[in-house]
Amino acid sequence: MPGFELFGDAERKELNDVLDSGVLMRYGFDGMRKGHWKAKELEQKLQDSLQVKHAQLVSSGTAAVTIALASAGIGAGDEVIMPNFTFVASFEAIMMLGAVPILVDIDDTLTLDPKAVKESITSKTKAIMPVHMCGSMANLEALQDICKEHDLLLIEDSSQATGATYKGKPLGSIGDLGCLSLDFVKIITAGEGGAVLTNNEAYYRHADHYSDHGHDHVGNDRGAETHPFLGYNFRISELHAAVGLAQLNRLEEFVAIQKKNYTIIREALSQIPEVVFRTVPEGGEESYSFLSFFLPDLDIARKVSAAFKNNGVDACFHYYDNNWHYIREWQHLKDLKTLYPLSQEVKDGLSYLQTKSFEQSDHYIGRNISCLIKLSWTEDEVRNRASKMVEIIKSYL
Ligand SMILES: *Cc1c(COP(=O)(O)O)cnc(C)c1O
Repeated sequence: MPGFELFGDAERKELNDVLDSGVLMRYGFDGMRKGHWKAKELEQKLQDSLQVKHAQLVSSGTAAVTIALASAGIGAGDEVIMPNFTFVASFEAIMMLGAVPILVDIDDTLTLDPKAVKESITSKTKAIMPVHMCGSMANLEALQDICKEHDLLLIEDSSQATGATYKGKPLGSIGDLGCLSLDFVKIITAGEGGAVLTNNEAYYRHADHYSDHGHDHVGNDRGAETHPFLGYNFRISELHAAVGLAQLNRLEEFVAIQKKNYTIIREALSQIPEVVFRTVPEGGEESYSFLSFFLPDLDIARKVSAAFKNNGVDACFHYYDNNWHYIREWQHLKDLKTLYPLSQEVKDGLSYLQTKSFEQSDHYIGRNISCLIKLSWTEDEVRNRASKMVEIIKSYL
């Protein structure tokens, strides 16, 4: 990660097809497009490579989460269980529909703790949304069992784990719905973009219509299409889809490069007995986008993180002190700072954030450092980096 590091001729070629025809929109203009349907082609390729019946491209990963939830009928007052270690997009997407995000603890997988999920289920819970952070996954089997037992939907946010698999299946294809991001810093990028994945015909139809103002997409005259229900504009453009198409064709190549770089660094850090790697659930294979490990305590993790920064070991994150990814610094959410009034249901639904503490997550996130694995490193660079990391960590133990 990220795919932008290897932006090149393949991406330019796909983009030029679109520029040649001048049709920048994914729908309509059949006569002008010279046979180019980049969004459609990318959807087909996503279906093939992620082994899912339907893929609906949209304007962002955040939009994909909102659309996935809306497609399954989740809205006002419904509760969606999500992890407290994720990207802010997760609760934004839920709140956009007037639903209530219920933040719960993570475990040593750095994703949803099934036990914490169980304890948070109420009569209002409609869905469980694991977020596969930093290239690895939640214990999906445990979550599937909980969903079955309580008749809940499983919605995967796989934005940070495209290319990873669980029991042989690509992440995003396992839940009732899956969400991908194709933003600029993800493993494959479209510049901006996202996708909703599902094997469910009705959810797919909902996602297709909802992301384009409720258009039914029947026939080939946009002006004559009907609107079975209200929608919004979450469309992706052909320009973005073109870049995404070239990048998806390179996903396996990207994962292979990451695996090579990841393995070199992991083997080096494995010499240090105090370094414990994140748990990958049985049957899971990471996308190798990040190497995530735990140090003995918060103080050491803070010192190591600072020393990494000061010594040129870039792109390593200590999320405990980071304001994008962990509940500790989401003051705007806790204070419900919005531009517009929230419904009383959402305000009441989120009041738990004033008092709930997350000691278990603090225990893991406080000691965790996650290092981005880049695609552009030379082998020498990776080896130098690995030995620098070992030296720094050892100096604080
Ligand atoms: C990037 C990301 C998103 C949102 O994707 P955008 O395309 O940037 O809107 C959602 N969830 C997670 C976990 C992400 O990392």
